[in-house]
Amino acid sequence: MSRSATPLAGHVALVTGASSGIGLGVAEALAGAGAAVIVNYHSDAASADAVVERIRAGGGRAVAVGADVSDEGEVVRLFDEAVAAFGRIDVLVANSGLQKDAAIADMTLADWNTVIAVNLTGQFLCAREAVRRFRAQPRDRRPARSAGAIVTMSSVHEVIPWAGHINYAASKGGSRMFTRSLAQEVALDGIRVNAIAPGAIRTPINRDAWDDADALEKLLRLIPYGRIGEPDDVARAVVWLASDDADYVTGTTLFVDGGMTLYPEFRDND
Ligand code: BGC
Repeated sequence: MSRSATPLAGHVALVTGASSGIGLGVAEALAGAGAAVIVNYHSDAASADAVVERIRAGGGRAVAVGADVSDEGEVVRLFDEAVAAFGRIDVLVANSGLQKDAAIADMTLADWNTVIAVNLTGQFLCAREAVRRFRAQPRDRRPARSAGAIVTMSSVHEVIPWAGHINYAASKGGSRMFTRSLAQEVALDGIRVNAIAPGAIRTPINRDAWDDADALEKLLRLIPYGRIGEPDDVARAVVWLASDDADYVTGTTLFVDGGMTLYPEFRDND
């Protein structure tokens, strides 16, 4: 069976944190797959506008909307603006995330709260709003077999403990059960909910881990496949999970990590 080059034609997709990194790659890939895209950003309006311009230059449809995903009122406004721009919403990619790393004795409550608020509460607020909108939309005008698809951006650290990053790892461990529990809750509504767990992807969040040769060599020891990931590696997986090609997939985490979760230190262990 041949696959469409634009499996998301007619869909409207909202990507949070889409002005840089993985979110930026996801927004462009969704547009390339035919979706109209809401490019959400927190503070970097210029970068979000540049993403929108690139999508439009390629013949796609996109708008940039600023909003803090950890703020309840702003999330409702974000969805209002998305629907005002394109009339409906079919796909949410709850991607926004950040790190505020510190050893536990030095971690401030603010570092803890900010990471949980953006990475985990942000997924809750956006998914809650998406579910409300998906349920309210007329069923006969759906572009997809599902009533809507949610993709949460997790991390290999939903299963790999990470010293010095307990706020981040806790947020991703929480996201794992958030995603699975939500998938169970809304499956009968025809809504699919899945997670992507990226490994080390070349983005600003982990620049220290790849921008000099020694750091990169150390990082590659953790990646059996032997290369760092690129945002497009993740973006292609998001397109698949969001599309009807994955219509029978819900409640799963798709690891896009070059094998980072395969206990690489056991390769040479007798
Ligand atoms: C983190 C990166 C890290 C990667 C692998 C990601 O979730 O954001 O900083 O390089 O996991 O450890």
